[in-house]
Amino acid sequence: MYKLIVGCPQCGNKVIWEANNQFRPFCSERCKLNDLSQWAQESYRIPLTDNDHEHHEATES
Ligand SMILES: [Zn+2]
Repeated sequence: MYKLIVGCPQCGNKVIWEANNQFRPFCSERCKLNDLSQWAQESYRIPLTDNDHEHHEATES
């Protein structure tokens, strides 16, 4: 039977993609939570970076 194997986005471990793997594509709950917390931090940082970029462009021109 064919099984799809993916790499865990957090730690790179091989993960079997199957319906009863509730953490897919992650290898474990810990990796899944780590990724979610990193994603949340990124989304907070993006607006600040954009504002800073616009400010620099306005100053130069
Ligand atoms: Zn992992």
